[in-house]
Amino acid sequence: MPVTMKEYLLHEANIAEEVLNIVNAVILVMDRDGRIILFNKAAESLTGYSFEEVKGKCPWDCFILPEEVDGVRSVFAQLTSGDFPNSHINHWITKAGSHRLIDWSNTSITGENGAIVFIIATGIDITDRKDAEQEIEKYQKNLELIIAERTAELNHANEQLEIIARIDGTTGIYNRRYFNEALETEWRRAMRTQGPISLMMCDVDYFKNYNDTYGHVAGDKCLKIIATTLDNAINRASDLVARYGGEEFAIILPGLDSTKAMELANRLIGEIRGKCLPYTSSPVGDVVTLSIGVATMQAEEPENHVAILSAADKALYKAKMQGRNRAQQYSADT
Ligand code: GH3
Ligand code: MG
Ligand code: MG
Repeated sequence: MPVTMKEYLLHEANIAEEVLNIVNAVILVMDRDGRIILFNKAAESLTGYSFEEVKGKCPWDCFILPEEVDGVRSVFAQLTSGDFPNSHINHWITKAGSHRLIDWSNTSITGENGAIVFIIATGIDITDRKDAEQEIEKYQKNLELIIAERTAELNHANEQLEIIARIDGTTGIYNRRYFNEALETEWRRAMRTQGPISLMMCDVDYFKNYNDTYGHVAGDKCLKIIATTLDNAINRASDLVARYGGEEFAIILPGLDSTKAMELANRLIGEIRGKCLPYTSSPVGDVVTLSIGVATMQAEEPENHVAILSAADKALYKAKMQGRNRAQQYSADT
């Protein structure tokens, strides 16, 4: 049997009340002064107050946090003047004293003359959602902190690794890999400054025989002492001592001319001799000695940093040929 319009209208008020009471949203209707004239079931269960308890009272007299009362009053004044903000959030205090955060949407009912008669406020309790959002935010911040900490640790570990990768394990000075990088860098700098650059190749004399006499462990100790002595004898920040290989050490001396480079080479030979590292079977004395090849150049072509290495090597060979325990300067006829 179809329902007639008459039957429908008869039940309209009941239907409206049913709808008001089955929705989850809090609904309250207020008159122009804010007095509550309707309070649905959801509002009752949220606040713990019955409709009878709040009827005729204003929300700010029953539910609103003291510090939010002024804000709510001014929103209400806006509503009654016909200005409807999209939404409005405030805290309600329940009968049991807990605080709930409610997101309100508002509308109005106007009378026949167009004036606003009632304000209808529909609210959704967003307390749990907000709490969850705050939890997530806290968790994210915590995660960001952990990531930042881990990143700092990783960066530190990488820096340490980079330092370790530059250092020779036996002697504790720079290794050949870093020496090659530094030579290229210093060569390019010398090209820019158009100053001289010197390079030394140092080689321990008869070191194979030293190992045969004193053993490999003593040989390693000897190499470490030589490395430290050379490193300590080099004072300028731009100078760099590296272990080039086996018992060979290379020294980069940016800005040093050939005279000063030779002076320094002779001083280094003296320092090593002065360490008085016993070497009774040495063909050139009774202590460990060093031979040094010195090359000085003006940096011109970028790739020519290899040329200075080979020049120093040739000079070293000559120092060896001339009896060892000495420094030799490179010259084209070397
Ligand atoms: P020269 O005066 O001509 O330089 O003679 P040399 O014996 O020093 O030269 P040679 O190239 O014949 O031998 C180098 C020796 O250096 C061979 C090797 O036993 C020793 N050596 C190289 N690396 C190490 C090392 O790490 N530890 C030790 N203990 N010995 C090393
Ligand atoms: Mg050698
Ligand atoms: Mg040698």
